[in-house]
Amino acid sequence: MVLVNKKSKEDLENDLQKELFERVTYSFYKYKKIKELPGIRNQIFSEFSNLKILGRIYLAKEGINAQISIPKFNLKKFKKLTKKINLLNDIFLNKAIQDGNSFFKLTIKIKNEIVAYGINENEYNIEKVGKHLDPKEFDEKIKQGKAITVDVRNYYETEIGRFENAIYPEVRRSNEILPQIKKMLKGKEDCEILMYCTGGIRCEKASSYLIKNNFKNVYQLKNGIVNYANYVKKKKTKSKFIGKNYVFDHRLGERITEDILSKCHQCEKESDNHNNCENDLCHMLFIQCKECSKKYEGCCSKECLDYLKSEKKDNEKAKRDFVKYIKKRNKGLVKPKLTEIKKTL
Ligand SMILES: [Zn+2]
Ligand SMILES: [Zn+2]
Repeated sequence: MVLVNKKSKEDLENDLQKELFERVTYSFYKYKKIKELPGIRNQIFSEFSNLKILGRIYLAKEGINAQISIPKFNLKKFKKLTKKINLLNDIFLNKAIQDGNSFFKLTIKIKNEIVAYGINENEYNIEKVGKHLDPKEFDEKIKQGKAITVDVRNYYETEIGRFENAIYPEVRRSNEILPQIKKMLKGKEDCEILMYCTGGIRCEKASSYLIKNNFKNVYQLKNGIVNYANYVKKKKTKSKFIGKNYVFDHRLGERITEDILSKCHQCEKESDNHNNCENDLCHMLFIQCKECSKKYEGCCSKECLDYLKSEKKDNEKAKRDFVKYIKKRNKGLVKPKLTEIKKTL
């Protein structure tokens, strides 16, 4: 059996369009030492492919992190399967808040970490993590008003949605997030810290890191914003998380409340619609309102649009020159903010 996907993006999109059944998006994670990574990778790939599961899965020596799209009619079989695979037998399945086609294919990658904080093994101890609070307890802690709420995600996630009054690190690289949080909380080692992320996986490591750095009262939102939003929906209570929940698939975000916290990176009108630049050589993630999307045809800049429209765009030299231009423009930043590099556009 083939253990990788070799179809083109267009073919995969067409395949998905033709499907006559519904899909549901789930995420799950587990920290558990894995010894035989290629073996477990191949097993999961073939078993999940049999159930027509799509998605993105990271495996590392420390565990598994998965976002998947499951055909509804295979949900029972999937749950049965998780009981059979030792690594998955007690996972919590976080159901997406809004559905839609989230993935076109199944990829399973072997990584150094299941979350990319880039911290060393001696900087945390995954056996000692913050106390888990369910959504109700988390809400109550916020209401008491004593704790500091901390968002441990990337700036482009917090930009479109976050808990009321949360503090968040405005850094470019994911390996700067935890050191920055430590800096922001300096002198607050005895305070109550209320931590949250999308699905709970990042808080495990982030809370452990703070505990190792002498923070004494660290709490974390169990199963993250996704679990919280499902709770709010079910109980019909007012959400303390406002705006959109950024997601790492083709949907790029799930709406939680109608509040719009961010602005279009091009015209600065209210917008929280993330977009990847239509020009694949750029593919920058940025916020673009409807009008700008129309005006720039989904591109981040006039340069990217001009290149797409130019006749010589398939010429190898033009391609190389454009890639060089993008590199120079992005000033070596991995995920630059369009608003910051715009000055040079
Ligand atoms: Zn705009
Ligand atoms: Zn672009």
